[in-house]
Amino acid sequence: GHADPDHSVAFYSLDMNQGMHERMRIESGLRHALGHGELLLYYQPKFEIGSDRIVGAEALVRWLHPERGLVPPSEFIPLAETTGLIVQVGEWVLEQACAQAAVWQRAGLRPFRLAVNVSAREFTESLPTRVAATLERYELDPCWLELEITESTLMHDIDRVIGIMDRINALGVALSLDDFGTGYSSLSYLKRFPIHTLKIDRSFTTGIPLDASDCAIASTIISIGRQLGHRVIAEGVETLDQLSFLRDSGCDEVQGYLYAAPLPAARFEQGLRDNWLL
Ligand code: C2E
Ligand code: CA
Ligand code: CA
Ligand code: CA
Repeated sequence: GHADPDHSVAFYSLDMNQGMHERMRIESGLRHALGHGELLLYYQPKFEIGSDRIVGAEALVRWLHPERGLVPPSEFIPLAETTGLIVQVGEWVLEQACAQAAVWQRAGLRPFRLAVNVSAREFTESLPTRVAATLERYELDPCWLELEITESTLMHDIDRVIGIMDRINALGVALSLDDFGTGYSSLSYLKRFPIHTLKIDRSFTTGIPLDASDCAIASTIISIGRQLGHRVIAEGVETLDQLSFLRDSGCDEVQGYLYAAPLPAARFEQGLRDNWLL
């Protein structure tokens, strides 16, 4: 759990503070949630730094619990990953994201990529087939979809993983490498991954501009990513200082509270109509 700062608190509380009973309660609650429509997606826009246009969005899952209210993914995704329930959650997320993107496509919006987070356990031989079937079912142009995968996905059996990535690319669906720099993949693998975008983890963005190490790491990731021909996006951008450092370092895109938090579909659409350039 220490690899992703976003997850460390949840792992800690699940592993250390919560007993088996608590984990089972969350697990059966999540099963119930899947069957009873308690999951929903929020959408956070991604902006191109030069043009200030929205170039994408990330779908982020929430659990609207009847008693507990809106439960953040940190409280159930790590558990879903250990129990295997993440596969069903992931299926629901892909389905829902494609359904929503198809609505936007039909409304005649200029296409932007809607990114779905994919866990290591979902990254199997059957994933490209499932993605293709979902695109077909909604008659969604693949240019609307992107998959975000983390380095942990890429740790085992590199050749097999690259084969799956190639099949996803062949569909016209873009791949981005999420939380870059927090995992264990080496730079020698990076050059082999057929990815479109490199995503700088929020833990580095946070230290900009005062922490010299975070600045060095962020600008190095930008430099490597661009020289490998990828786009680079920074997540967790909250301040104008961070934005201007990233702009000066050649970063292509930003995502963060400075522009917008993850929003329910209706409010995201409102943003598209009112304030954001499309
Ligand atoms: P992530 O993929 O790294 O997503 C970015 C997280 O940073 C999101 O947290 C987002 O709300 C948050 N964030 C965005 N901008 C800012 C900012 O400016 N400041 C701060 N402090 N935070 C910002 P969220 O939505 O709570 O999701 C947490 C993690 O849960 C995600 O991290 C991802 O690993 C996982 N997750 C979320 N939805 C899904 C899903 O559908 N499937 C899978 N497998 N994992 C998911
Ligand atoms: Ca992500
Ligand atoms: Ca991320
Ligand atoms: Ca992150």
